[in-house]
Amino acid sequence: MELETEHFVGSIDQGTTSSRFLIFNKHGEPVASHQVEFTQIYPNPGWHEHDPFEIVSSVETCIDEAVKKFEAIGYSRSSIKGVGIANQRETIILWDIATGLPLHNAIVWTDARSQTVVHGLKARPGAAELEQTCGLPLSTYPSSTKLLWMLKEIPSVKKAWDDGKLVFGTVDTWLVYRLNGGPKANVLVTDPTNASRTMFMNLKTLQYDDKLLEFFGVKERVYFPKIVPSSDARAYGTVNSGALAGVPIAGCLGDQSAALVGQKAFSPGLAKNTYGTGCFLLYNVGSQPVISKHGLLATVAYHFGEKPVYALEGSIAVAGSGVKFLQNNLNFFAESNEVNDLASTVNDNGGCVFVTAFSGLFAPYWIDDAKGTIFGITQYTQKGHIARATLEATCYQTKAILDAMEKDSGHALTELSVDGGMSNSDLTMQIQADLISIPVYRPTMRETTAFGAAIAAGLAVGIWNNLDELRTIDRTGGTIFEPKISQQKRCELFARWEKAVGMCRGWGD
Ligand code: ADP
Repeated sequence: MELETEHFVGSIDQGTTSSRFLIFNKHGEPVASHQVEFTQIYPNPGWHEHDPFEIVSSVETCIDEAVKKFEAIGYSRSSIKGVGIANQRETIILWDIATGLPLHNAIVWTDARSQTVVHGLKARPGAAELEQTCGLPLSTYPSSTKLLWMLKEIPSVKKAWDDGKLVFGTVDTWLVYRLNGGPKANVLVTDPTNASRTMFMNLKTLQYDDKLLEFFGVKERVYFPKIVPSSDARAYGTVNSGALAGVPIAGCLGDQSAALVGQKAFSPGLAKNTYGTGCFLLYNVGSQPVISKHGLLATVAYHFGEKPVYALEGSIAVAGSGVKFLQNNLNFFAESNEVNDLASTVNDNGGCVFVTAFSGLFAPYWIDDAKGTIFGITQYTQKGHIARATLEATCYQTKAILDAMEKDSGHALTELSVDGGMSNSDLTMQIQADLISIPVYRPTMRETTAFGAAIAAGLAVGIWNNLDELRTIDRTGGTIFEPKISQQKRCELFARWEKAVGMCRGWGD
């Protein structure tokens, strides 16, 4: 009987390397899930694409398979009251308003091909002031510069623009559009956490800003999705087909905002760091955006009620993708988790520093033309040293971001909550605690990104009534990594990293 009356919420976690669907109960526990990895396309150095239809089909497969598992343990699909979406951010998909068909592969957030576009834009009057309005500096990272590159280089995109048929979407918009049935329903929406990564949205009004659109020359002739709250039972439409046909899509958050919500960092001063393909530290700054003076981004954390909540963000382009690089490009091991055994064959980095700047360096350095560089190689160097240096690279950048965050906010964190695939590495988390000299807390339930999207949807469909109810879900279990190295050692290691960063600039193409 108990099973009959319980209500659940589904969550799509559409990440950079895989899609997942999880079904959560009211206690925040995942009761069924399915995950599918999809194809990474690297057509040229620094380029990174996804097939838009593979993104959708991977999500649909995950939904159908997870619902099968859910029913196999005795639940009914009718008890799933809503679906939330967490998605890779900044990645863009352009399509034709009439056919609903993509005009090109998705250009992924890591893709650095828009460098020349960025250099041109930086020379325009007003370029330096954009960040005050949208929270992001000009770089290859946000969606805007990817859109301009496609308008210039892809004939089908230019034609759709000329014909007035061009739709601009981030991954959330594309997924919602397709899940609703494509052109026949024509649902074109996004939420403020995703829109805040485009450079087209004003952080204060949470609407498109004419000055920003004019700067990029896209005020006319592009269909932009409507910006609606992150939690809303109606605005996102309903799933059109498959195992959850008829269920409302009731929430949407960019993946890093979703992880902040999933870690329940609802109060100003709380932060989380997610070690996925890249690594993203978000720090809740409350109801007013804080424009960074030290290389961080201002972004929307979530918009659930009347007032939005903002975050300061430190973005690192390469984290788990560095591990994948050792696995796929250098054949160091067959599975990601083996990096830890390899890195544990040595006691330290043996003098190696690996600046994993495969697509430039992001926060707080923002060096577009940096290239991946390994310093300090000698005859003594083993694979283990390189593996360790790869793990350390993300931890050094996290330290640099925390230092910048302390300067911007005037507060020092006392503990860092972590999640994401690479946080499974005990060695990495210990290195992290050593480098930032505060404890690192890793929860037992690490599907925080998916849980964040479930919260967004669950609040809209009544699984939870308010954030206070969620706060009472306590954080039992988990692991705390305490710092163990001396201050002197920490300073020596970090100084060497900073020196390496200074030397990886300006390598060019
Ligand atoms: P995303 O959501 O960006 O696709 P995930 O949070 O799923 O990323 O994390 C996947 C990344 O984590 C991969 O790049 C993988 O190499 C890395 N990873 C997974 N498990 C481990 C592990 N045990 N140790 C180190 N890295 C890992």
